[in-house]
Order: sequence, then C-alpha cells, then structure tokens
Amino acid sequence: MVLAKARLFGTEEVGLDAAFGRVLAGPVRADRDYPPFPRATMDGYALRYADLQRGVRRFRIAGTLFAGSQASERISGGECYKIMTGAAVPEEADIVVRREDVREEVEWMEVGAREPEPWRPFLNIARQGEDLRAGDVILDRPCKCSPAVMGLLATLGLATVRVTRRPEVGLITTGNEVVEPGQPVGPVQIRNSNHWMLAGALQGEGLGLRKYAHAPDDPDQLMRVLGCFPDLDILVVTGGVSAGDADHVPHVLTEFGVRRLFHKVAMRPGKPTWCGVMPGGGMVFALPGNPFSCLVNFALLISPYIRACQGLEPAAAMSLPLKEVRKKRTPLDEFFPARVDGSPAALVQMPLNGSGDIRLGMQADALALHPADTEELKAGSNVLFYSVV
Ligand code: AMP
Ligand code: MG
Repeated sequence: MVLAKARLFGTEEVGLDAAFGRVLAGPVRADRDYPPFPRATMDGYALRYADLQRGVRRFRIAGTLFAGSQASERISGGECYKIMTGAAVPEEADIVVRREDVREEVEWMEVGAREPEPWRPFLNIARQGEDLRAGDVILDRPCKCSPAVMGLLATLGLATVRVTRRPEVGLITTGNEVVEPGQPVGPVQIRNSNHWMLAGALQGEGLGLRKYAHAPDDPDQLMRVLGCFPDLDILVVTGGVSAGDADHVPHVLTEFGVRRLFHKVAMRPGKPTWCGVMPGGGMVFALPGNPFSCLVNFALLISPYIRACQGLEPAAAMSLPLKEVRKKRTPLDEFFPARVDGSPAALVQMPLNGSGDIRLGMQADALALHPADTEELKAGSNVLFYSVV
C-alpha cells in the first residue's frame, strides 16, 4: 500500500560536487569510445607484431611516448617507440613489449630471445572502444551515485548531472515524558531518542529534516503543531498511536484531514503504526514511540517509500542460516536485529529486550524475519533478512 503511493518529486540539475548519494534521473551514455584511444597498459616498447614474427629482435627507438603525448612520426619496420602506461599507442604499432623483457641501449633496444609473455597482437594494449562504444547506454535505470558512479560520471565529462529531487521530510515527536538531550531530565522522564535516531536514518538516505517539532500528549497542541508544518512530501510522527488514553495521534491526524491508509501492521515490533495521505498528497507515517519500533518501521516502510519515490527498487531481502535457535514470542511476524558473522556467513541474533530496549540492535547488519507461521527457527535454518547498513 505504501509503495503504491510512491511518486516522483521532479528532477534537478546538480554539479558533480553535490551528486554523491543522489539518484540519477536519466540514462547515462558513453560520450566517446572507451578507451578513447589505443592505450598502453604497461611501460615498455610499442612496435609491430609482424616484426617479431619475422624474427626481428633489435629495434631502433624512434622516440618516447608519455601519457598525454602523441607520436609525431610513423615507425617503420625494425623501429619502436618507448612508451609509458596510459600513453596512446601509435596506429601502426600493435604490441607493447614490457620494459622488463628487453635490454635497453641509448638508441636501440633488444627483445630477449625467450618470450617471457607469449606474444600476440595487441598484447598490453587496451584497444579503442573495447570497453564501450560511443553512444552505448551504461546506466539505464535509476541509480544512486556511489563512488564508482561518481568516477564514471567524471570520466564521461559530466560536470553537472540530472538527479531526482529529494522528498522534503518533517518530523513530529510526541509525549509529555520526552525531553531533549542536554536538558535536565526528571526521574520519570526519558530523553528524546527518536528525534535523533530518525534524523540519522534520514541522513542515511541522503535526506535532511526540513522541519522538526515536539508536541505534548494534548490533541489541541498537536493540532496546532500540525498547522505550523508546511506542505511536505513526507511527515513522520512518533508516539501516541497505540490504544492508550494519551494516544491522540490517529484521531488528530484524521481531524487534520489526513486520509488513513492503514492502522496497525501484523508485526512486532511496530504493530500500532498508522499511515495516511495528506490532502496535498504527502505521506504520513505515524510510528509507535518505542525506539526499536521506530527503527524497524523506518527500515520496512519509510526507507522503501523514499527509494521508490526516487525510482529505486526496494532493497531486496536476502537469506542466511541462523546460528542459534530462536523461539517465537508472539503470533505475529517478528523482526529481530542480527549480525552477519563468520565465513561461511551466518546470522547471529543480537541481544534486545523488547522494542523499548535502548540498545536498539546497534551494530546489527541485518533485520531478520521470524515469520508468523513458524514456531521456532531452528539453528542452521535459512532466515530472510534485510540489510541495515
Ligand atoms: P507511545 O507510542 O507514545 O505509547 O510510546 C511508547 C514508548 O516509547 C513509551 O515508553 C515512550 O516513553 C517511548 N517514547 C515515545 N517517544 C519517544 C521518543 N521520542 N524517544 C524515546 N522514547 C520515546
Ligand atoms: Mg506517548
């Protein structure tokens, strides 16, 4: 239901310096052949393979070719160019013999009698266009700018690239008991971890928080806070969505005009989650206040939504054997934090005392699923998980 609501938020042009982590909006093509010229892949001597075949071993050195320089004259039979890695191999040469395989004099060089490398045409030459041809499509679907993609874009000479616009996200935390870190904390108060945890989770997706506010457990004040928020693409609310007398969030959101998509998901943690759509089309994710519930909901609902809104596929579930047996605690799908350990790899469950445990499954690499219909996950059995790194 969440993914069905995904939509693109337009595109924008950014410089390469701002492209890392962004999602490319269109296909990427090779602007020219790659390599763009026949390139020496070793330091050595460029010559004609036919000469070697004829038994020529002593060559006159016509000049030296450095990376970025071009041969000024054509070599003929019995001649060679000294050449450096990355330099353009002259058209008439079709082999580079490694420097370590020749004896060098001032104007001459002699190829060893023994072939240290079996000679063949284009040995130690990366031929023009052997990787890609001009016009070839290199990336044809939305793709996040990783270090490798950054390198590729630079190679293609793209000083600016068109990327998808990022959704604008707002966050409202709720609860009379919640205080910000750095503030005095009373004996029955707790610190606001969700604010910073979700800010971090969003940053992990390359998004900032456009607006943040905290609301006490009071319907009128919550309504006022909502009214101060601009029209955003995504609004996350935490706390106040369960069945308690102070859980006003679903009611207030509905009053505010948010159309409910669903309330409650058959999973643990995160069961009370409420989700809806604002009149302007923005998505509202109202998550239970327990920190681990928030984290799981972010991973399972919000992160896939953010990805889908940029044209990306949701991260695929993977599977690995579980190291130790796990018993079911509830009749629902249970998600638990796990570490990927060893080689061959196995999943190790991390200590977590329920969804209110502040340890939050930190240092977990995986969010693993204990399905509703499986009473016990046996040691060694394959378990589905999502990567959380
Ligand atoms: P709630 O969903 O409001 O019933 O809250 C469930 C639990 O999460 C309660 O123990 C709350 O104190 C706690 N909680 C709610 N909001 C936050 C927050 N922003 N940071 C840390 N814990 C919270
Ligand atoms: Mg609360």
